[in-house]
Amino acid sequence: MGAAGVPLFDHHAHSLRRVQPDTPEAFRAHFTESDASEIVRGHLGWSLFYRRALADLGRYFGCPPAEDAILTARARRPFGELTRAMFEDAGIGALLVDPGFRAADHYDLAALRGMLPCPAGELLRLEVLAERLIPESDGWPDLRERFAAEVRAAAGRVRGLKTIIAYRTGLDVRNWDAASLAAAFRQTRDAAARGRTRLASKPLLDTLLWTALDIAAEHRLPVQVHTGFGDRDLDLRLANPLWLRPAFEHPPFRPITFVLLHSYPYVREAAWLAHVYPHVAMDLSLTVPFAAHAATDAIVEALGLAPASKVLLATDAFSIPELFWLAARHAREALDAALSIIERRGFAGPEDREAIARRLLWDNAVAIYGDLAKNAR
Ligand SMILES: [Zn+2]
Repeated sequence: MGAAGVPLFDHHAHSLRRVQPDTPEAFRAHFTESDASEIVRGHLGWSLFYRRALADLGRYFGCPPAEDAILTARARRPFGELTRAMFEDAGIGALLVDPGFRAADHYDLAALRGMLPCPAGELLRLEVLAERLIPESDGWPDLRERFAAEVRAAAGRVRGLKTIIAYRTGLDVRNWDAASLAAAFRQTRDAAARGRTRLASKPLLDTLLWTALDIAAEHRLPVQVHTGFGDRDLDLRLANPLWLRPAFEHPPFRPITFVLLHSYPYVREAAWLAHVYPHVAMDLSLTVPFAAHAATDAIVEALGLAPASKVLLATDAFSIPELFWLAARHAREALDAALSIIERRGFAGPEDREAIARRLLWDNAVAIYGDLAKNAR
């Protein structure tokens, strides 16, 4: 026994697209973080993750492992039914999503819940909230007040907060004086009035994150922090979770559990942080499945320093049900392979396998976010 049969608490994932891809290129774009058409057209066919995905999906649909055949097979099934079947087959037992992700062309939480065979909880995506509030705010102090009020109001409803500051201005969060904040607000609101609504102002992002962390501490809410690889436009140097040390060392933030998302390639750094700080955990979503066979090595490395009670798996899947299905299956497969390696090295016995698998796939998430099935919200 090992990971097989253990349900996945998918604590980091996104909603599904209302309009599903119907051309090979549109479908393929979901399997890379690159937006370069040369990558999508010329190289993705040689991505081992994508080649394996086509082989697995061909078997699932009972068709040749080719894009056209898979697109035809998936289009034959009503979308709600396909989603339900793939989630059931993937053994996903609970899900957390942030409805802020490309909200215009994705199902909202209520519609998503209607399609899923498992409970789905909500996370609050901080940067999307700030972007919504900027045009209606009168100045920096007003923005900060509105933002704090909305985070407080959400605290009773959501399972945690989530930040992508690593992908906007980096994790080297600093203190900013009032004059810099006022100037940054004016620039940002002017840009928003001209249609540039993507918030990328370091003074505003840094200070709003700290404001949100104060509220998370008050309400004992977990906070997911994207680290490592992810959005195509990030500066990977500034996505190193070691930058977060001031937040981890800040005594008022001790009631927060920080969950470092993705972690790759900073798996060792994340494992060190989870090793030393009681309130830091790490996740290997997106690493599974995008890093293909290397996800096994990431799990082996994480479990080197981080206790098994601090490492989580998830899909970080988005838009199409196939990504959930593939990522959940690959997570169990990579975990089993990692446990075999660890066992051969003499650091876990066959009797530990299921307990460790249960920790990474389910129990650690329940300990952090609560049991969705018990008090669904
Ligand atoms: Zn993510």
